[in-house]
Amino acid sequence: MLIRINGAHVLDPGNIDEKKDIIIKDHLVEAILDPDENITKTDIKIIDAKGMIVVPGLIDIHVHLREPGYEYKETIETGLSAAVRGGFTAVCSMPNTHPVNDNSQVTKFIISRANELGLSKVYPAGAITQGSMGDRLAKINDMKQAGIVAVTDDGNPVEDSNMMRRVLGYCKGLKLPVFVHAEELSVANGGSMNEGPSAKSLGLKGIPNAAESIMVVRDIALSKLIDAPVHFCHVSTKESVQAIRQAKKRGAKVTCETAPHYFTLTDEDVKDYNTNFKMNPPLRSKEDRQAIIQGLIDGTIDMIASDHAPHSISDKDVGFDKAAFGIVGLETSLSLSLKLVHDGLLTMEELVNKMAKQPAKLIGINRDIKPGSMADLTIIDPDVSYKINPELFKSKSKNTPFFGFKVKGKPFLTMVNGKIVYQTDENLNKKRDDKDE
Ligand SMILES: [Zn+2]
Repeated sequence: MLIRINGAHVLDPGNIDEKKDIIIKDHLVEAILDPDENITKTDIKIIDAKGMIVVPGLIDIHVHLREPGYEYKETIETGLSAAVRGGFTAVCSMPNTHPVNDNSQVTKFIISRANELGLSKVYPAGAITQGSMGDRLAKINDMKQAGIVAVTDDGNPVEDSNMMRRVLGYCKGLKLPVFVHAEELSVANGGSMNEGPSAKSLGLKGIPNAAESIMVVRDIALSKLIDAPVHFCHVSTKESVQAIRQAKKRGAKVTCETAPHYFTLTDEDVKDYNTNFKMNPPLRSKEDRQAIIQGLIDGTIDMIASDHAPHSISDKDVGFDKAAFGIVGLETSLSLSLKLVHDGLLTMEELVNKMAKQPAKLIGINRDIKPGSMADLTIIDPDVSYKINPELFKSKSKNTPFFGFKVKGKPFLTMVNGKIVYQTDENLNKKRDDKDE
């Protein structure tokens, strides 16, 4: 059977930006037609996508799937169900599971479980060091043979600078990107939110911007020293943005991501000790938020990732200083990011670059809409308004600060390998402004 996506605007930056119909056969994009062009086949499923935008399948480069080991927070199945509901056709899974993905056995388990499910694709990141403890290198080459696309000790920094130098050099040879969780632990000093007036008035211990930017500056220096690429995760401070902007101007091989909460919220939103506003790095000041937005606009920040970090109620329903760091993000990331487009800060093309093309480039996969390319597609309904309702999340965890948040635009349909893996209820009235999903 063929599938025809009818009447949509197709946007694949650098390739297509016009009204086209797309024919999908088996796993692949078979043809791209003018809207009035007929084909003679009879057995065709039509997807009416008028008013919608078809883009290359979105990729979330920073996701915690929690399985193996923390299935009470999220399983690969619930995480990938959340991913496709969020419009993501692929995710890069962080290795801080239990056991840690620091060997090929765990890598193979994650990939085979994802393949069984046939939802979003998973591209695992392996640990840099054994158990992400920072002491001894993990079996990176074995994991690469098994399918990892990057390495990171995310959740922990690589504290030893010489270890980081070795890893950058080794992974340069393997052509494997290194994702940096930039945190100087002695400066972070056990804080639980951003250091500043808000932390002071709440009586909470603060984490200064320098805890992040010290490591960003260090790893830029190491990357320069051995001419090896480096990627910074979840950039949150103005100093980090400045350092990365300067490094890029000097031709350093640096890329970075930020997460929607850093351009949407600030530490002033942390109220009533609500632990759904606690993540690492923490929500920063208004000035930092502006710097993140500026970094997205001028291209210093290459991509947007959710840092989806599901936690159970028991992990969060404790004192703010004791609660786990992290929020879920797969099912809110696109809508929150579309606000940048609706506000005229980014073009739709720039957003697609940051949520599909650049992440694909980083992990070395193809993301084009062309005849013969894999039919991994996201169809976006750009204009529908709704309020975020965590009760509807497919994720096992509901730890979001965006409860009841008004947003505009959401995924309409997600297609992976030519198969529809998610579609919104087509009968919903498109003019249901301000109603729940
Ligand atoms: Zn991290």
